[in-house]
Amino acid sequence: MSDIKIISSVREMRDTARLIRSQGKSVAFVPTMGFLHEGHASLMREGRRLGDILVTSIFVNPIQFGAGEDFESYPRDLGRDLETARDCGVDIIFAPTASEMYPKGFQTWVNVEKVSLPLCGASRPGHFRGVTTVVCKLFNIVMPTCALLGEKDFQQLTVIRRMAADLNMDVEIIGMPTVREADGLAMSSRNAYLSADERKGALCLSRALDATCSLYRSGESSADVLRTELIDTLQREPSAKIDYAELRDAETLEEVSTVNDRTVIALAVRIGATRLIDNVIAGRGITWKEKC
Ligand code: AMP
Repeated sequence: MSDIKIISSVREMRDTARLIRSQGKSVAFVPTMGFLHEGHASLMREGRRLGDILVTSIFVNPIQFGAGEDFESYPRDLGRDLETARDCGVDIIFAPTASEMYPKGFQTWVNVEKVSLPLCGASRPGHFRGVTTVVCKLFNIVMPTCALLGEKDFQQLTVIRRMAADLNMDVEIIGMPTVREADGLAMSSRNAYLSADERKGALCLSRALDATCSLYRSGESSADVLRTELIDTLQREPSAKIDYAELRDAETLEEVSTVNDRTVIALAVRIGATRLIDNVIAGRGITWKEKC
């Protein structure tokens, strides 16, 4: 097997992608911001299975961070990421600099409207237009046949699906299940910010989603009642500060008054200075190792 190739120039990545596609090969693509963990690895392994060539991008995208957010401090470890990517069978890492992606004069944005507005869109104005702009650019550069994205960032997946459909992008968007630690915490690069105490407190997110799902599965379908359960469970954790706790239609992200199997229960919670998100589809529920 040939070794992993690291590309930092847009032109080289495009030329390489064009050559691969001209040979009739498919390209599976996993966009990331690096500091790779088992959640990213699950996407890469599935991408390895689906594509002739597997490309992963590592790019901490400045335009999706707001003023005062953690762009500067976002964890980075390219050396370790290369090992993880290699283990997962990645063929090409695309790791451009910010000035390579946004050269002087850059002024074009991709903006998905309705589904970008609630939840993280309300708490982080401009975030999703930064995400859709970079993902559109990455799709144009990498020319993937399919792109694998995590359900952990459920709204992001919804927004990108909408963008790809609305703009007739020739790429299949594949959503992948959330990978959790043995105790239920959804894996995230931002978990690295948590102190030992905060790490324990962070379990309130998966606990609250689980409690709410159990109530739904026992026959309760009122969104008000289920939301109360969600918030009450979160508030039992003293370190938790709720950003949002909502029940919405999993496709349109509109609020629901009656919950069904296709309702997403979505959370953003601050534990100390760290903002964590998590979600579950009501009809599916969640499990993790220590719960089984
Ligand atoms: P990020 O590096 O955080 O931007 O994430 C890159 C991709 O990995 C996105 O599609 C995320 O949704 C996905 N991802 C992040 N954490 C997880 C997880 N715990 N399980 C599954 N996918 C994840």
